[in-house]
Amino acid sequence: MSNPDRAPRQLRVGIIGAGMAGILAAIRLRQQGRHEVIVYEKADRIGGTWRENTYPGLNCDVPAHAYTYSFAPNPEWSSFLAPGPEIQRYFEDQVAHHGIGSLIRLGQEVKSCVWRDGRWHIETSKGVKDAVDVVIVATGVLHHPNLPQIEGLESFAGAKFHTARWDHSVPLDGRRIGIIGNGSTGVQLVSALAGRASRVVHIQRSPQWIMPMPNDPYTDEQRAAFRQDPKLIDEIRYGEWYTERVRRFTEAIIDHDSAPMHEIEAIVLENLESNVRDPVLREKLRPGYRAACKRLIYSPDYYEVVQRPDVDVVVGAIERIEPAGVRMRDGALHEVDVLALATGFKAHLYMRPMLVQGRDDADLDRLWARHATAYLGISLPGFPNFFMINGPTGPVGNFSLIDIAERQWGYIEQLIGALEAGRCREISVSAATMKDYDERRIAAARKTIFATGCSSWYLDADGVPSSWPWSYDAFASETAAPRFHEFDLTA
Ligand code: NAP
Repeated sequence: MSNPDRAPRQLRVGIIGAGMAGILAAIRLRQQGRHEVIVYEKADRIGGTWRENTYPGLNCDVPAHAYTYSFAPNPEWSSFLAPGPEIQRYFEDQVAHHGIGSLIRLGQEVKSCVWRDGRWHIETSKGVKDAVDVVIVATGVLHHPNLPQIEGLESFAGAKFHTARWDHSVPLDGRRIGIIGNGSTGVQLVSALAGRASRVVHIQRSPQWIMPMPNDPYTDEQRAAFRQDPKLIDEIRYGEWYTERVRRFTEAIIDHDSAPMHEIEAIVLENLESNVRDPVLREKLRPGYRAACKRLIYSPDYYEVVQRPDVDVVVGAIERIEPAGVRMRDGALHEVDVLALATGFKAHLYMRPMLVQGRDDADLDRLWARHATAYLGISLPGFPNFFMINGPTGPVGNFSLIDIAERQWGYIEQLIGALEAGRCREISVSAATMKDYDERRIAAARKTIFATGCSSWYLDADGVPSSWPWSYDAFASETAAPRFHEFDLTA
């Protein structure tokens, strides 16, 4: 219940991160126009993952029209799957269009966030201090590069870099390029560099299942039609083909003996069997774990590309890196001029190393010592008015994280609404709700396809997937409206 005698409380909201989720929160808050908003961004440019990843071939394997804000459809996408730089431009355009640029403080990494006297006290790397009523953590999941601990890496004589720190000053054409890692990044890179490099050596510890995915460019006529009739965009985003795919995919994840899972397995197996002609290469590329156990790779052309004479697939363990290249455990040395480390991210860190201290000295590092978690990926007990977008235990998979972020934002808006209306001054999920959620979630997560015996960034230190283990529809309904009795509301 709101207090009718009280004027709506104006809040100062601090958003951490100006990537997809932080921009979303800033736009929504600006549209409401009721609160003071400030966005702290560690980098010198907005864009999050799309700013940090600029490697050749980067695109988003979610259909472009589904990877857009629901309130800002974009008829101009150049192809079914959008290239990374176009997505970066889209977010920059959104910032300009919604006039939120002035709210963003670039180059200000938040170092600490401490709850004291009913507010969050923020300090940035530049020594800026601020006090806010609400913190929105929109720091993303995949932003701390995982640099592999491989002996001799420092001794490599050529250029080497992580894919999220691509060095564009290094020439690629006509050179021998080694790529370590075959997640979505490594696979996209191989497709982009084959034909440019004199040789591409794709080094993989464990082969991946590959889901074929069309990626046709949109014609000028199609773009004109999208401009004229937004329903055509809606048909892609909300239509049967995409929504049914997401539904079936999430059903497969949570029940690995379901018909949709067997369907996925049949498709990826067929892709391997019929599209890799050389039986030796085919066996090399055959994974020893189930499809979608690791995040499924979508590629229109990977199998075609690796059959080129100038591409080598090397499967096995790396012994060490030498000045000339990569020495495998079987003794073979693969000489390369450039080494790209497509070795993923330390996803479990989330917003850390930021220091976060909540009520009664609740400490985020301590709370997350075993595994990172948050109720619906949003709230934590003891951390009042502190809400995450795309925080731990939210849905992950081959679908649009923008949709997840928008659902979480809708929920957070309602929590903020309770503060604004004077229903309470502090709100965070109760310890009992969190405990019950975590126990049920972990039990269900152990039964998902992600837990069927492979390594991936989805797994926590105990080998439990740290993702949403129920259906997409369940997530949609759970995040539709907060059940306030599950929260600690402090007057
Ligand atoms: P990733 O999926 O975590 O893959 C990392 C790769 O590096 C794996 O092949 C891993 O091998 C290998 N690796 C790690 N340490 C190694 C070591 N010490 N020696 C040898 N190999 C090592 O990382 P990613 O490809 O950057 O993708 C991360 C996530 O980003 C994706 O899952 C996806 O969510 C997102 N992404 C999305 C898109 C998109 O199109 N939407 C594109 C790129 C990335 P093992 O498998 O054997 O561990």
